[in-house]
Amino acid sequence: MNCIFCEILNGNIPCNKVFENDNFIAILDAFPANEGHTLIIPKKHFENIFEIDGEILKEGYFIAQKIANSIKKSFGIENINILQNNGALAGQTVNHFHIHIVPRKENDNVIIKSTPVSIDNEKIKNIIDSIKSNM
Ligand code: 5GP
Ligand code: ZN
Repeated sequence: MNCIFCEILNGNIPCNKVFENDNFIAILDAFPANEGHTLIIPKKHFENIFEIDGEILKEGYFIAQKIANSIKKSFGIENINILQNNGALAGQTVNHFHIHIVPRKENDNVIIKSTPVSIDNEKIKNIIDSIKSNM
């Protein structure tokens, strides 16, 4: 399998590691959106949120909180985005599940923005029914 994060985990590609335990590593992003942009990566290859084991997912977000707190102290900042992309249309470029921690600063270059779409009440009802019944 041709997976850059598996190659990093196997030690074949160097990385800047800030955290490691039995199930995860956290590394600095090679093309950071801001100073301190960190990726939390499970050691086992799961492609995305649909594939990842639930207990591992929980641990990943627990680690995200831990690292977010550490980044907050390290950079003296109060604002952080925690992001996670699934699928090419959602911006996923590395198909090995990972959580982004992006520290935010005043007037930085990070753009996470959308304009609202209008959805009529009938459609909203269908959306609710559909989500509930597929859960
Ligand atoms: P995605 O777009 O899949 O959510 O995020 C993938 C992230 O991995 C990107 O932010 C990208 O900069 C980062 N990335 C890609 N290749 C490497 C690499 O070889 N090393 C590190 N540390 N990060 C990488
Ligand atoms: Zn992988």
